[in-house]
Amino acid sequence: MSQVVYISVEPSHQTTVEGTTTNTTTPTHLHWIHPHLNETTDATKGRQFRASHLIAQGACLLIDRPYAILPVVDDPASNDTLLCSNPACNQPAPCHRGGRSPCLNACVTDVVWCSAVCRDADAARHAFECTWLKRYAAPLRNKRSEYEFGMLWLIVRLLATRQIEFHAQHAQHHNHPLSWDTSAANHRWKHGWAAIDALCGSVDSWSHDQVRSWMTLVKKYLPNSSVLPHGLTPDRVLHLVCQEEANSFGLYPRETGVFPLPDLPMGRGEQYAAAVYPTAAIMNHSCLPNVTHKPDEQGRMVFTASRDILPGEECCIAYFDLSHYTDLSARRDHLRKSFRFVCHCERCVSEEEPVEETLEWTAMPLMDI
Ligand SMILES: [Zn+2]
Ligand SMILES: [Zn+2]
Ligand SMILES: [Zn+2]
Repeated sequence: MSQVVYISVEPSHQTTVEGTTTNTTTPTHLHWIHPHLNETTDATKGRQFRASHLIAQGACLLIDRPYAILPVVDDPASNDTLLCSNPACNQPAPCHRGGRSPCLNACVTDVVWCSAVCRDADAARHAFECTWLKRYAAPLRNKRSEYEFGMLWLIVRLLATRQIEFHAQHAQHHNHPLSWDTSAANHRWKHGWAAIDALCGSVDSWSHDQVRSWMTLVKKYLPNSSVLPHGLTPDRVLHLVCQEEANSFGLYPRETGVFPLPDLPMGRGEQYAAAVYPTAAIMNHSCLPNVTHKPDEQGRMVFTASRDILPGEECCIAYFDLSHYTDLSARRDHLRKSFRFVCHCERCVSEEEPVEETLEWTAMPLMDI
């Protein structure tokens, strides 16, 4: 039986907890969805969130627990924002306290736990990635790039959670603490691997060159083998790369999506982690967002209404730091390059030069995020 310690989701939290920030951020509630948040489908944007009733400014819309998360820091040995690798913890493991526990197989310096207890509890999950990290981390970092290493490591961590989730289902069916919530209160939402499986991310969204390059990486570094026994075909892993690239979030110390910008915009700070959130990935972008997001101390992403959201209105976040890209062309350029869609949000449309822009921007969004 797996020794990984997870705190299980409260099965009845949707009916017992009111939609206020103060009541929903207690550590026992690993996952929270506001009862007035509905998933709908739009002909051009695909999946999206809409408010079914008024959602008041300041209300907590969603607390989403990562399916996979990894640290993104320059110098792990001396960086205090390095996260504990145990998914049930994910708290920063500061180096100066001397309480940082490394991997006993010395795989990579990015892998640490905040205590030996956290490390032991995470043994089964980490065993899935440890051999892969020992074999491929250095060649990937040296011969390819830090970005590609991080991208592939996030895939490995998605596969590790999947492995643990499936193992738990076989071992103890629905009562195991590793089971993702499938209770009646949450029947509207997919959970666990089923939610990851449903993420957008068609290979057609990227150029042939990009897809070919990812397939080369998949075949070389992520084959189904004793190093990484995932049991999936290269095509399915490639699709997972596309899903991860279209849906992953950066974790930053301050809020993303504050608008209007304050007089002295601070930005959201330095990225310290990257993660895939199964439910939050549905949230679309707007340059005039009505939702801000910020990670909490456990790596969960917390989404908050930044103004009153009216019944029927779409709930949108900003995919980038709005203080970094202020004018229309900078925003559209960034979204097109990094997220592969052309933004037609209310703010972008209102800032368009009618004659020049009409013919140029005819493409539809290619994906959710
Ligand atoms: Zn820990
Ligand atoms: Zn290790
Ligand atoms: Zn826009």
